[in-house]
Amino acid sequence: MKIAIYPGSFDPITKGHLDILNTAAGLFDKVIIAVANNSEKHGFLPVETRVKLIRESIKDLDNVEVDSFDGLTINYAHQKGASILIRGLRAVSDFEYEMQLSQANSALAPDVKTVFLTTKPKYNFISSSTIREIFINNGDVSKFVPEPVFEYLNKLSKC
Ligand code: ADP
Repeated sequence: MKIAIYPGSFDPITKGHLDILNTAAGLFDKVIIAVANNSEKHGFLPVETRVKLIRESIKDLDNVEVDSFDGLTINYAHQKGASILIRGLRAVSDFEYEMQLSQANSALAPDVKTVFLTTKPKYNFISSSTIREIFINNGDVSKFVPEPVFEYLNKLSKC
């Protein structure tokens, strides 16, 4: 059974992330989308909220699980019996960082392979940081995030 981990901040999950996840779900037996709990970085949304919003956004994907983890991604992958790490590539600007990360991971855990996926062109430019920037400045993010995230942000803006 091929198990893949899709790790990230997902702060919040976007339609770009979902597109990558859909492709991964079609390629592997099981995909675990895992929110990295970075204790040094205070995120926009709490990790539990990000997990809840992902769960609500992926109801139609049967072979996808949602989780969060602390520490090194490769340790988490080993713990879950996963041999694949999914990462997304948007532009050349992602490439250098992603390449370094995958090489570091492969040096630490040669049994875990990184697979890079891209989205449909219409989702290619979307990042969580762009979503946060638009939201904070009262812009419309409805085209870029799944419905549960849009509803959550809507409620947040009324608080
Ligand atoms: P970001 O805040 O940049 O969206 P994440 O850590 O949440 O970052 O992203 C997890 C992974 O998903 C990363 O490999 C990132 O490059 C990838 N990703 C995010 N958005 C997209 C997108 N629109 N197209 C392709 N890959 C993406």
